[in-house]
Amino acid sequence: MSKHCLMVGAGLSGAVIGRMLAEAGHRVSIADSRPHIGGNCHTERDAATGVMVHVYGPHIFHTDDAEVWDYVNRFETFLPYKNRVKTTSQGAVYSLPVNLHTINQFFGQTLRPDEARLFLEQKADTSITDPQTFEEQALRFVGPELYEAFFKGYTIKQWGCSPSELPASILKRLPVRFNYDDNYFFHQFQGMPENGYTAMIAAILDHPNIELSLNTRVARDEIDSYDHVFYSGPIDGWFDYELGRLGYRTLDFERFEFDGDYQGCAVMNYGDVATPYTRITEHKHFSPWESHEGSVLYREFSRACGPDDIPYYPIRQVAEKTMLADYVALAQKEEKVTFVGRLGTYRYLDMDVTIREALDCGRAWLNALNEGKKMPAFNVNPL
Ligand code: UDP
Repeated sequence: MSKHCLMVGAGLSGAVIGRMLAEAGHRVSIADSRPHIGGNCHTERDAATGVMVHVYGPHIFHTDDAEVWDYVNRFETFLPYKNRVKTTSQGAVYSLPVNLHTINQFFGQTLRPDEARLFLEQKADTSITDPQTFEEQALRFVGPELYEAFFKGYTIKQWGCSPSELPASILKRLPVRFNYDDNYFFHQFQGMPENGYTAMIAAILDHPNIELSLNTRVARDEIDSYDHVFYSGPIDGWFDYELGRLGYRTLDFERFEFDGDYQGCAVMNYGDVATPYTRITEHKHFSPWESHEGSVLYREFSRACGPDDIPYYPIRQVAEKTMLADYVALAQKEEKVTFVGRLGTYRYLDMDVTIREALDCGRAWLNALNEGKKMPAFNVNPL
């Protein structure tokens, strides 16, 4: 029998789950409080320059998950794009992620791969056997000089705390390479949507069983008329912050235009703590198949997220995780709400993982329905 489900949030999670349920014959309503779909992946053409802009900061699609790659390609053409990030630090420009070029340039060496490995191993703090914090991970794998130049200042600006207070997992996002491969990601599939992420998500939502409402806030007491709710907003927001607010970092973007090519790459990081922004994004380089005379750039500043700001990065330090555990316990008492995505589960998620989890979650709900079981509040463990 056909059900009527509500997706709160029209980002990747809501769109992917909604599409799956719609294709299985269920009726899907999707509500988003913002005036656009796509959540923080939202892209739009800049009015002044015609450049496709990543409105909420750079989003580069990369995955090893063939099903996810096929999924996104079903709804949008992905064109080849390799993210080659540079960083400006201590008065020079270097290649990221840390690779043989970075090591040789930084230390004024001409080392071969094995020599560089040995060289860094001598700098590394090998007394750290099981790195727990960001700082330990850096000192163990790249040593103090590269840590200071490329990670410490950037991370203090990005997270507003010492890298010794952050988990090693954040740094594990970035590889260290002993060759000249400067591809920021190590995944097999990488690309950019030809017409932007918002076009892709619009295509996912384009189904006769899906009804979309923008500029629409959903209150908890409105859910009675639905069979099930998938909530991809902030988990603490669902409970009106009754246990307090989970900490996030938010971003401010300072837009500027340039006539020509400002920096020659899409993303330039700034490693020095004295430079107040973390990075500058030159959006036209995300669409290398297009040509634009003018250029639009964002200087990116990170700060603590206030009640009226847009949440970006979940902080997930000890205090937040304790509060999260309490919210998870509350959420588990919900009868027909499943919490999904970056905000619903308060995790630092890449787009491909978000889609993978959404596909799994949609399937889990369809299976639960078939088997007459209750869909749990979480299809992944957020803790
Ligand atoms: N990072 C850093 N220096 C850099 C780039 C990244 O120290 O030049 C650290 C920083 O703490 C950041 C984390 O590595 O939060 C992950 O970086 P990534 O580029 O994956 O961040 P995102 O693009 O998701 O903001």
